[in-house]
Amino acid sequence: MTSYSGIMVSDYSNEREALVKAGLKLVEQGLVSRTWGNISVKVNNSEMLITPSGKFYEDLTPADMVLINFKTNTYNKTGIKPSSEFKMHSGIYNARKEFNAIIHSHQMNASTCAAARREVPAVLDDLAQIVGPSVRCADYALPSTKKIVRATVKAMRGRNAALMANHGAVCAGRNLDEAFVVCQVLEKGCKAFIEAEFLGGAKHIGKFEAWAMHQIYLKKYSKLADKNN
Ligand SMILES: [Zn+2]
Repeated sequence: MTSYSGIMVSDYSNEREALVKAGLKLVEQGLVSRTWGNISVKVNNSEMLITPSGKFYEDLTPADMVLINFKTNTYNKTGIKPSSEFKMHSGIYNARKEFNAIIHSHQMNASTCAAARREVPAVLDDLAQIVGPSVRCADYALPSTKKIVRATVKAMRGRNAALMANHGAVCAGRNLDEAFVVCQVLEKGCKAFIEAEFLGGAKHIGKFEAWAMHQIYLKKYSKLADKNN
């Protein structure tokens, strides 16, 4: 068994395995390609596991996932290098205690809206329920900077996703499955928004109704999750 300064790769083996599967699913569903994007899961109140930097999803193994303390942004420097965007994941986990999984994707329709730096209004019921009353676009900042962390955390307030200007999207959930559903619903919502604009203009759900739908979804889902535990 490989050990890096006391961190056994057998630690959090279920989460490591889940990240490998999630990476493959992300590529299969066309939400990222090559080595782009990254996925993390929170494993306790101060640590997350994240996909590594610059490796193809198809080649990832459980041992490639990097354990990082998201409160201090520290990890074992002699081991595998984490995704360069790990500080963005840390920022989100620190700001949003309810999230246990984060996916940063380069999905096409969300990226198109991010290229236009458009806030996507709640044009579909499922977008309002699962993502939130709108999807904001975080201000542009260079990747891996403090500014991108701040801008993304701010854009996600009250929402499960945000667009990253001229880059892609970030989606979060209370578990990995939920974060995936957020990515899928975001992609569908962005596609509908773009195409509805061509059909004479997208018409969105009222802000209050959209906010209320999101709140009801969050509460209902929590009850279901409790029941399953
Ligand atoms: Zn990216």
